[in-house]
Amino acid sequence: MYKHFLVVATTLVAGAAAFTGCAPKQEAKAEAVPAFDTASLDRSIAPCEDFDAFANAGWKKSNPIPGTESRWGAFNVLDKENKEVRLKGIINEIVGKTDLKKGTEEQQIADYYKSFLDSATIEKRGVEPLKPYLDKIAAVTSLKEWAAVTGEMQKFGVPTVAGFGVEGDLKNSKINALYQGQDGLSLGERSYYERADESTENVRKEFVQHINKMFALAGWSDTTAGKTIFEFEKKVALLQLTNVELRDPVKTYNKAAFAELATLMPDYDWTGFATAQGIKSDSVIIQNKAYLSNLNKLLKATPLETLKTYSRWQLLTHFAGFLPKPLDDEDFRFFATVMRGTKAQRPRVDRAIRSTDGIMGMPLGKLFVKKYFPESSKEKVSEMIENVRTVYGERVDQLSWMGKETKEMAHKKLKAFTYKIGYPDKWKDYSSIDIQGDKLVENVINAALYKHNENIAKIGKDVDRKEWLMTPQTVNAYYNPLNNEIVFPAGILQPPFFNADADDAINYGGIIAVIGHEFTHGFDDQGSQFDAEGNLKNWWTEEDRKRFDTLAGKYINYFSGIEVLPGFKVNGALTIGENIADLGGLTLAYYALKKSLEGKAEPPLVDGYNWKQRFFLGWAQVWHANITEAALRNQIQTDPHSPARERINGPLPHLKEFSEAWGCKPGDKMVLGDSARVVIW
Ligand SMILES: [Zn+2]
Repeated sequence: MYKHFLVVATTLVAGAAAFTGCAPKQEAKAEAVPAFDTASLDRSIAPCEDFDAFANAGWKKSNPIPGTESRWGAFNVLDKENKEVRLKGIINEIVGKTDLKKGTEEQQIADYYKSFLDSATIEKRGVEPLKPYLDKIAAVTSLKEWAAVTGEMQKFGVPTVAGFGVEGDLKNSKINALYQGQDGLSLGERSYYERADESTENVRKEFVQHINKMFALAGWSDTTAGKTIFEFEKKVALLQLTNVELRDPVKTYNKAAFAELATLMPDYDWTGFATAQGIKSDSVIIQNKAYLSNLNKLLKATPLETLKTYSRWQLLTHFAGFLPKPLDDEDFRFFATVMRGTKAQRPRVDRAIRSTDGIMGMPLGKLFVKKYFPESSKEKVSEMIENVRTVYGERVDQLSWMGKETKEMAHKKLKAFTYKIGYPDKWKDYSSIDIQGDKLVENVINAALYKHNENIAKIGKDVDRKEWLMTPQTVNAYYNPLNNEIVFPAGILQPPFFNADADDAINYGGIIAVIGHEFTHGFDDQGSQFDAEGNLKNWWTEEDRKRFDTLAGKYINYFSGIEVLPGFKVNGALTIGENIADLGGLTLAYYALKKSLEGKAEPPLVDGYNWKQRFFLGWAQVWHANITEAALRNQIQTDPHSPARERINGPLPHLKEFSEAWGCKPGDKMVLGDSARVVIW
């Protein structure tokens, strides 16, 4: 379970990038999904005052957040259906077979699923499965030995304060390189360690108590370790880059000889850390050299016992969800309830499906697409992608802020975009992963080691451009600047994003805007720094880059002014890439729709709304969502995507096309004057 240290691939919504038998083809859908259900509307609210409330208040009222969720919207509804109905059906069919051969994907799926559901064995084994690693931590007598043990545990995903990752070299995108980056914060992001507000203060207080409880439940004697661990993590956090600073691909790209790690951290054993992971590389791309120098000082000044306690904690918390119920429940209470406002765990059987999907996602995806992905979608989506590409080219030609020279380069990049639809062309062979029906923790470790070995074998080798970073059943999409490619898994090619029974305007506001969003990532604050070949290389004239940065800066300020909860404003600098992509996606989709209607009769009203209005209803529909306050705070602090409500109401005032569609007047809340509006693409 290797971390992607770089903020490289950008997704449509937050969600893990993927780690990543035969059924009849789907014939007809059971029933048509309405294009847009008018019961979702609240017509007592003026669309020009609050479009999200106008379009979605009805939906929000009749779709409260289930107790097992922290947010509830179109993505979650589809995800639940994919997992709790479709994958469940596929898994149950496999589990029902009696002659599964060892080392086949069906055996792995069935036995992993069984091992997750076998609560009696999980209870009986307690924390015993972690013992080999706990013993190794206990035996550590020096900082050098600590480095080797943490290196070994990072192989299967246990974080430590600094780690390795493998990805295409940003400046030579066809070859994989070794990266080194910051890591190891239990709360995920440094702002949790330094924000002064009451709710963050409470998270910190709960965190310390949570660690103490976990240690007690694990049967460990040092049940006051919480304070020690928190204080250590806080010191680490304050040395780290913020998630906004991490967005800068130039500053976080520092290629060096591998030996430079030892120069930066003379008291730490980088060679031992790498050797424990089976890594050998002459060069490494360092995220932040100052972090390493400062970390060296911190580690040297920290008692070894503190580091050992910290590693024990990282091991325990990483596997808590696979351990006996008291540990699992306490882990949920803190990370899901305190941090995200989720009230209750999902039933064990639904968790087993999600966990199997997390471990065997690609083999399951292979079965999923056979059953649920109509091949005809590929052709339809390719056509839509080409239409958006054409419109993007026309938009570039019309831009007043960009000069001829840069426009030529933008066209070159636009032409070079490639795309993937539905599922991978080739499937990997996972048969060497040892999965047993009564060894849950070992199964998780074995699957992670497989991924680790696959990753380190890539160092210095050609990038496999056919590889997918998401499983086909994922309800999401992404842009990968290194491949200059946009990817749409089968999971998102369903209503309300893509609805074969809907009028065009709804689909343009849905899936076409999503396609436009992904294209625009190639030209957002980060993507625009990569050229047509996927290399981090400037292709802009100085004046054009300045004008782009000015426009982006204006849009950052606009979003930073939006307060979503008292004291919690959108972080405009963190969300700028996604916000540019939404603004561009909407604009491109709108003009693609307009172009598709050229020379044709005006489409008829549907439910009393014209095509322009339906387009914006389509956009509002894909982002309708309820969210808990805690999850909203968490999103503001950690997620590069703006909250769903702001993804609707944020960009629309910048589109005069929106005002025109709904007859908005100056002074209405959803209207900005010409000087305040931002048009980038
Ligand atoms: Zn995105």
